[in-house]
Amino acid sequence: SRKPMRVLITGAAGQIGYAIVAMAANGDMLGQDQPVILHLLDIEPAKQALQGVKMELMDAAYPLLVDVVATTDLQEACAGVEVAVMVGGFPRKAGMERKDVMAKNVSIYAQQARALEAHASRDVKILVIANPANTNALMLKEHAPSIPAENITALTRLDHNRALAQIAARAGTHVSNVRNVIIWGNHSSTQFPDVAHGTVDGRPIREVLRGEEDAAWLDGEFVETVQQRGAAVIKARGLSSAMSAASSACDHIHDWFNGTAPGKWVSMGVYGDGSYGQPAGLIYSYPVTCQHGKWKIVQGLEIDSHCAAKLKASADELLEERELALACISE
Ligand code: NDP
Repeated sequence: SRKPMRVLITGAAGQIGYAIVAMAANGDMLGQDQPVILHLLDIEPAKQALQGVKMELMDAAYPLLVDVVATTDLQEACAGVEVAVMVGGFPRKAGMERKDVMAKNVSIYAQQARALEAHASRDVKILVIANPANTNALMLKEHAPSIPAENITALTRLDHNRALAQIAARAGTHVSNVRNVIIWGNHSSTQFPDVAHGTVDGRPIREVLRGEEDAAWLDGEFVETVQQRGAAVIKARGLSSAMSAASSACDHIHDWFNGTAPGKWVSMGVYGDGSYGQPAGLIYSYPVTCQHGKWKIVQGLEIDSHCAAKLKASADELLEERELALACISE
């Protein structure tokens, strides 16, 4: 059987952590034939809860779960990991300035970058979930110059999956029949969920949903629903989305490692190269295909002027976040 892979999950005693450890141990992240050793990291105040998570993982007797390292020691957590899922971060608290939250996260991600660089496997693949996810990923990259930029990504797959689900419900079909929507830009309210190239059962979304009402829905309510879905879940559950965030993180890593099906693309926050006229050097969500453990930005899609303006607005926000983050470093 295959050699187990070491997977780091930070913030593992939190909400998303609680959901994602089960999925990773069950083969949803790396495949049903891939044994895993889970490295769970959390901070000192969460130490006891983290031990509880480890106990439950043992008790669940997952066939693919070889071992669990539960620790508050960053070096031990990073040792030899081939996958790192960064869920831990400083939460937005009432009354805090955006700059203060940014400063906390910049220092967390700088420290974790150095530890990953020093102790993780040389080809570690990293997914940042903690917000501001794109900018946290960028700061991680800045502080881990020896980790290839292409190995550092941010999660927009939840937004992508939310878009697929909304289209499927409207078209009255199963979500697996909807493909190739795109989330452009930042994992924030400036993201642009784009259906122009998507399909339902192989037919263009705008051909399937083409009545006047459907068209208005696609241009208005659909976009808002996807952008505001996180807030809607908080309102309903009294807690932020965790199971769906965890599941989409598994999809992200699964497709990155195992490839996307021919003709299918997914959205990932990746280190941009200037594609589609957006500034290079940002972690920006693009449509990508994956093969042999590498992602590639889908090229040559036609972008109309409305879409171009949306792409630019999200890039502008990311440039501003980068400024703010860099200012935190130099302070
Ligand atoms: P969650 O597990 O609910 O969320 C973790 C992070 O994921 C947050 O930054 C959250 O952003 C972000 N996130 C990104 N996308 C989504 C989404 N779609 N839905 C929900 N969240 C999303 O937070 P918990 O507070 O339950 O757990 C956090 C853990 O991190 C705790 O165990 C804590 O101890 C640990 N922690 C670690 C630190 C460190 O490593 N130094 C520092 C602080 C905490 P948002 O804040 O915008 O909701």
